[in-house]
Amino acid sequence: MRTLTAWTCVILAVLATAAGAARNLGAQTDDATRKLSLAIFKQLIEINTTDSVGSTTVAAEAMAKRLLDAGFPASDVQVLGPNSRKGNMVARLHGTGKYKPILFIGHLDVVEALRADWTTDPFKFVEKDGYYYGRGTNDMKSEDAIMVTTFIRLKREGYKPDRDLILALTADEEGGKYNGVDWLLKNHRDLIDAEFVVNPDGGGVTLENGKAVIYSLDATEKLYADFQLEVTNPGGHSSLPKPENAIYQLAEGLTRIQHYQFPFELNAVTRSFFERTAKQVTGQTADDMLAILNDPPDEAAAARLSQDPYFNATMRTTCVATRLDAGDANNALPQRATAIVNCRILPGHSREEVRKTLVRVVDDPKITVRWMDNSGNLHDMAPDAVALPPAPLRDDLMKPLEESVDKIWPGTPVVPTMATGASDGVYTNAAGMPTYGVGAVAIELGDDRAHGKDERIPVQSYFDGVDFYYLLFKALAPQQ
Ligand SMILES: [Zn+2]
Repeated sequence: MRTLTAWTCVILAVLATAAGAARNLGAQTDDATRKLSLAIFKQLIEINTTDSVGSTTVAAEAMAKRLLDAGFPASDVQVLGPNSRKGNMVARLHGTGKYKPILFIGHLDVVEALRADWTTDPFKFVEKDGYYYGRGTNDMKSEDAIMVTTFIRLKREGYKPDRDLILALTADEEGGKYNGVDWLLKNHRDLIDAEFVVNPDGGGVTLENGKAVIYSLDATEKLYADFQLEVTNPGGHSSLPKPENAIYQLAEGLTRIQHYQFPFELNAVTRSFFERTAKQVTGQTADDMLAILNDPPDEAAAARLSQDPYFNATMRTTCVATRLDAGDANNALPQRATAIVNCRILPGHSREEVRKTLVRVVDDPKITVRWMDNSGNLHDMAPDAVALPPAPLRDDLMKPLEESVDKIWPGTPVVPTMATGASDGVYTNAAGMPTYGVGAVAIELGDDRAHGKDERIPVQSYFDGVDFYYLLFKALAPQQ
């Protein structure tokens, strides 16, 4: 999964001074490395890793062989998994052990793709008009290939980082029953235990007309929840209306939700988002962003910023009515009225906490508020589990990241963001390893084709990513 563009395009709308950075000219990468990285990318695209008929084991073994051929000892490269089709690859580049390892994760599986829907064969690697096409070019075999290439480069150079670097390429991020990160944590935690985790499946550079305008770092995510509101009534004939009507009652409850605003709350990531975005915008918006960082926050400033849907969603939990269903006949009083209210919950809060808030806000015991799980089942109570508060934006990640971004996309601001979707980071974060979405491949605004037909990335973005991750790996774990 990939959640880059939806949020960055809203940010971009307010980045008044986003001038667009000069392009990296790809000078760092020698020809042999370019060829190697491309061969690995092509190989991965042409191995079908869908849940229906594909195999991540084939891809994991192919990548393991690449690393073994480059000189990694067999003891440092393993393919493991719950069955023959859902293999995961784990490799380790040994450092001096001065610090705890960094884990890099990438999923090998891709969503389904039908040949009939596509212009090209989704499982053939095609270069056309300055783009690479194929299922997984964007999400996220390009980045898997980039990480394998970087591991091979560092090994060949005899690079000795100050900490071990671990690479895990895994199964079933997009779906399926055997999520590789979850499985590795449960069965081989020792192999992937790390100080923190870098996941290129989130964040990254957004291009506008080919120029880099923003680097978003996915540093935390909101929790998703659906709630069903329901009113029932004995009904009757519509020629004889009664004071109690399921539709009116539900509508009044929904109106109270409409006018309710969850409390303003910032965390380490969203504070940093406003601090950094304030430098990119001008006037009242910039002043307001700084004013909400004060203790106590400036309420008027928060209210003004709340007019913008993106800033509003960054400052608070949101709940909004998304579906409505009521009545059985034009001439009958409704016996039942239901609505779905969709919520995006700030880190640090639980679904049950939000359900109770909705009960309080609708303020009508005749309106039931139940949690709807992913399969559509209704529950009187929602899970109590609190969405983890974000880990701090650590210097040993931010400084190397900003340095590396500036070398490849000069002048592009790095802005920490809160994602709406969940990545494999949910497992590593829950295991106590703070996880950051650090995308490698720049995508043009409005051309994010992850999960879609004719998935593609710009050729130049791929090689920029090869350069970027090489610099980033070295900056994160300097040679001793
Ligand atoms: Zn993905």
